[in-house]
Amino acid sequence: IPLPVDLFGAGGHRNSAGLDLSDVDTLTATVKVVNAPLSQGAFPREGGGPDSAQSADRATAREPEGLDPRLRGGTVSDAITRAHAAFPGWSRSPVEARAACLDRLADLLETHRDELIAICVQEAFKTIPDAIGEVREAVDFCRYYAQQARAKLQPIELPGPTGERNMLHIEGRGVWATIAPWNFPLAIFLGQTVAALVTGNAVVAKPAPQTPRIAARAVELAHEAGVPADVLVLVTGGPEVGAALTADARIQGVAFTGSTATARKIARALLEDDSRPIVPLIAETGGINAMIVDSTALPEQVVADVIASSFRSAGQRCSALRLLLVQEDIADGVIEMLSGAMDTLRIGRAGDPATDVGPVIDQAAYDRLMAYRARVASKTVKTLDVPADGLFVPPTLVRIGAIEDLNEEWFGPILHVATWEAGKLSETIARVNAKGYGLTMGLHSRIARAAEVIEAEAAVGNLYINRSMIGAVVGSQPFGGEGLSGTGPKAGGPRYLYRFCAERAVSVDT
Ligand code: GLU
Repeated sequence: IPLPVDLFGAGGHRNSAGLDLSDVDTLTATVKVVNAPLSQGAFPREGGGPDSAQSADRATAREPEGLDPRLRGGTVSDAITRAHAAFPGWSRSPVEARAACLDRLADLLETHRDELIAICVQEAFKTIPDAIGEVREAVDFCRYYAQQARAKLQPIELPGPTGERNMLHIEGRGVWATIAPWNFPLAIFLGQTVAALVTGNAVVAKPAPQTPRIAARAVELAHEAGVPADVLVLVTGGPEVGAALTADARIQGVAFTGSTATARKIARALLEDDSRPIVPLIAETGGINAMIVDSTALPEQVVADVIASSFRSAGQRCSALRLLLVQEDIADGVIEMLSGAMDTLRIGRAGDPATDVGPVIDQAAYDRLMAYRARVASKTVKTLDVPADGLFVPPTLVRIGAIEDLNEEWFGPILHVATWEAGKLSETIARVNAKGYGLTMGLHSRIARAAEVIEAEAAVGNLYINRSMIGAVVGSQPFGGEGLSGTGPKAGGPRYLYRFCAERAVSVDT
């Protein structure tokens, strides 16, 4: 596979737990074995032929070394200037032409999938199955939003009295800032970005500081697919770059995925200056996600779904299960089975095909999680040994006394378990709701009424019954929360594109 040479250079990486040169062969071999079509199949390609603040203002957009010079954005302000100038032409281009760019980008992602998978493993320490899923989701976002744009962005003629013609047009708003997380450095980075693009906006896109390289490659491919260089400009760097971006009054919308605290900062920044337009913020943040298990559930299925939901991706998904609530009469048995199942988890380097749980993203995350683990050591009922030479946080099960004892999202492989009393399902749901987050919730039960109750009462964006709580599929499980977990609309859903648009009603007396 065409691996960028500098990615696997000896000593070129910050984490010894990531890949080194010896992993390249393993990785290459593995990628060849899993040479399946990347799109999940729901969105076949359509059309898409070849034709078809002062100091903040000066913040320099940091670039990953070796970045293609054509992607260099200069300062954040320069990047916005370029996008701003390019917006009118792009917004006037036909929807079909923009949708075709997304289809071509999906094709290019598929063509370059082995390289993209390799970068995701190397840069974000994804396990190989997770990296494959990542590229697959990015492909699906491109195809789905292309399809949605064709279907949803046509002008609508509305009724009026004789002699009056009323049209409703839907179009781009201007320059959007898209700010992406490191945990889905390709799929979410691109998903937010292509949604803004296909609706006729220009974009200044900022990846997480941990994962600039995969984003740079994605932007290169978007340009190759036909998105003009100034319509999509990459800026890289830390919070100072994000702050410079959101402080600029020319930004007409922000799509952000990351922490609740940062979402609040962005919301404040967008409203600070009274003279600037009021613009939309799409924020997708975290959660304290609970799964409720009653005594009718199938224990084997519960255990398999809990393991996947809590420990896959080293627990570094917004959707991940953080709080397992087991009906008290079966709790000891479930905890015992779960502990046994945890023993089967293989913890190791991201590029090793045998790995179930890889390292966490960086030293800061590692230190935070390990300090928390130490704090809850007396309540820990199960933990695992991990290799000593890397950022491996041991999968850990912590028994807490009450639902209210967990009030923070621990973004790693740490699962909390508490019990609830038979007959108190509604109260249990209400106590979870009371945390104020609302991303994912799960139920394992064979009682139809329990499913009805949780469906009616859970204040979450994504509810999963008798299955795992991760891995929302584009177009089938639109993803996103409410309350402290985000603003909606849902990524990968049929109403997502509208929020990126301005509507204009034109009435003509004929
Ligand atoms: N959509 C992902 C899932 O369903 C989670 C996205 C996130 O972590 O932000 O697992």
